[in-house]
Amino acid sequence: MTAPLNFTPAIGDMDFTPQQRELLTLAHTLGRDKFAARAAKWDQEASFPFANYDDLGEAGLLKLCVPTSHGGLGADYPTYMMLAAEIGRFCGATALTWNMHICSTMWTGVLADGIAMSDEQRAEHAARRELHFGRIVNDGAVYAQPFSEGTAAAAGRAPFGTTARKVDGGWLINGRKIWASLSGAADYYGVLCTEDRGDQHPDARDTLYISVPATAEGFSISGEWDPLGMRGTVSRNLAFKDVFVSDAEQLMPRGIYFKGAQTWPAMFFTLSPTYLGVANAAYDFTVQYLRGEVPGEPPIKRRQFPTKQITVAQMRIQLEAMKSLFSRAIQEAKPNPSKDERMRLYAAHYSVMEGANDICRLALRTCGGQSMLKHLPLERLYRDSRCGALMLPWTAELILDRMGRETLYEPGEKDA
Ligand SMILES: Cc1cc2nc3c(=O)[nH]c(=O)nc-3n(C[C@H](O)[C@H](O)[C@H](O)COP(=O)(O)OP(=O)(O)OC[C@H]3O[C@@H](n4cnc5c(N)ncnc54)[C@H](O)[C@@H]3O)c2cc1C
Repeated sequence: MTAPLNFTPAIGDMDFTPQQRELLTLAHTLGRDKFAARAAKWDQEASFPFANYDDLGEAGLLKLCVPTSHGGLGADYPTYMMLAAEIGRFCGATALTWNMHICSTMWTGVLADGIAMSDEQRAEHAARRELHFGRIVNDGAVYAQPFSEGTAAAAGRAPFGTTARKVDGGWLINGRKIWASLSGAADYYGVLCTEDRGDQHPDARDTLYISVPATAEGFSISGEWDPLGMRGTVSRNLAFKDVFVSDAEQLMPRGIYFKGAQTWPAMFFTLSPTYLGVANAAYDFTVQYLRGEVPGEPPIKRRQFPTKQITVAQMRIQLEAMKSLFSRAIQEAKPNPSKDERMRLYAAHYSVMEGANDICRLALRTCGGQSMLKHLPLERLYRDSRCGALMLPWTAELILDRMGRETLYEPGEKDA
C-alpha cells in the first residue's frame, strides 16, 4: 500500500492508483528539490536542461511509457499526463521537451497498440520498436520530435515537405524542420516525412515516422535561439541532406502515422500538461506572495486587500475548471473517441493553453510591480505560458476552427 500524497498534485486530487501516487511523489520531489531552483538558469541562458535530464534518467522517467515487457515502467497515457503537469509546475522547458521524448515511446507503444494494423505490420512494428525501446532502457537515449516546417503540414493540412525515398536497406531523407525542441541534446530525431514515390504527388497518407540518429551523415542543426519563452527547449532548425537511415529506424510501419492521427486525437493533447503545470506554479506563487511567505522576500502581507482576494478567487475558479476538464479528458482518452469526447478533448486543450496565460496575467497584476522582477519566477512563467497556444497542430485558433466546424457539420456534410 502506497502512502497517501502529502501534497496536491498539479492535476488536482483524484483517486490515484498506487503506481500513480508513487510516480507523482517522485516527480514532485524531483521538481521541488532540483528542477525549480535550476529553471531560471535555463531561461536566462536559453540553454538545455541537461542536469534535469540526468535526474530524469536516474529516476527511470525517460522510460516511463516503455512497456514493462521491454524494461520500462509501463505507465499509461493518464499517468504520463499527470506527471508531465507535475514537472511543468517546476520547469516548463523540462516538461515540454520531456513530452517530445515520451511521445516517441507512447506513439510507438500504447498508441500504436490501439491502431488497426495487418498481422504483417504488427510483426514489423514489434521488431522495430524493440530496438528503439532498448536504446532508451539500456542506453538512456533521448528522442526529439521535429515535425514543424513552417507550412500547413504540422497543422495537418498538407503533406510534410521533408521526404524519405526508399533505397536499398533503408531511406534517404531530405528536407528541413524548424522548431525542433531538444536540438543538439537528443540522440535521435523522430522525423515526420512524406514518402517520395517519385511521382510528384506527395500524399499525407504516405507520412513516415523515422528516427534519424544525431550522428547521421548529412544531418545538421542551425539557427539562432533567443525566444520569448520556453527558452530551455532550444528548438533550433534541422536540415537533412541525403541522410541515409536503415530500415530499422522506421518508428511506425508505412501509413500507420496517418491512421494514428485520425484514430487517436488525444496524441496531440500531450502538449497541454506542461502548461497546466505552469498555471499551477503561477497560482502557488501568488498565494505565497500575497501571504508574505516567499523565501528571501520581505514578509509583507498583501492578502488583506479585497481586490487581491477576489483575483485569487478568480484564478482558483479558472484553475479548477482547467483541472476538471483536463482530468476528465485524460481518463477518457482512447482510440476513436465519440464526438462528445472529442469536443471535450478540444475544449480541455484550449482551456489549458489559453487559461495558463490568463492565470499568469492575473498573477502578475495582483501580486504587483515587485513580482515581475527577474529574480522571482512569475515573469518567466508569464512568458512561458504564452507559448502553448501557438503550438501546432492544435493552436488555440485551430481548436476553435475544428470545434466550430465539427459542431456544425457532421462528417461528409457539405453546403449545397
Ligand atoms: C516552445 C515551443 C517548442 C516547440 N517545439 C516543437 C518541437 O519540438 N517539434 C515541432 O515539430 N514543433 C515544435 N514547435 C512548433 C509548433 O508546434 C508550431 O509548429 C509553431 O509554433 C508554428 O509556428 P509558425 O510561425 O510556423 O506558425 P503559423 O505560421 O501560425 O503556422 C504555420 C502554418 O500552419 C497553418 N496554419 C496556422 N494557423 C492556421 C489557421 N488558423 N488556419 C489554417 N491554417 C493555419 C498555415 O499553413 C501556416 O502557414 C514548438 C513551438 C514552441 C513555441
